[in-house]
Amino acid sequence: MARSIDERFYHSSNWTACRNSYMSRVRGICERCGGVAEIVHHKTRLTEANYRNPSIAYGNANLEALCQSCHNKEHYGNSDRRERYTTDGAGNIITFPSAE
Ligand SMILES: [Zn+2]
Ligand SMILES: [Zn+2]
Repeated sequence: MARSIDERFYHSSNWTACRNSYMSRVRGICERCGGVAEIVHHKTRLTEANYRNPSIAYGNANLEALCQSCHNKEHYGNSDRRERYTTDGAGNIITFPSAE
C-alpha cells in the first residue's frame, strides 16, 4: 500500500517542487539535530486516504526536514522494527543499519 503512494506521490513533480521549496525554507538543516537534512518527512504519514489532501501532503505544518539518522529514529526509534527499510522523500530506498 505504501509502495503505491511512493510511486504516485513521491515521484510526482508536485512533491519534488514542494520538497525542494521546503528544503530551501529550512536551509537544508535537520530540524531536530541541526545536521544536514536529506529527507522531508511527513509528520502525519501519508496513506491512501489522505495523500490527496494538500494540507497533509504539502502543508508546511505537516512537513519536517530531517537528516537520515533522525528520520530513521522517527520511523524506527524505540518502537518495534517491523520493516527493514523505508523510502525517503525522493522515493529512494533506505535500509537500516542493524547496529542502531
Ligand atoms: Zn538530524
Ligand atoms: Zn518519514
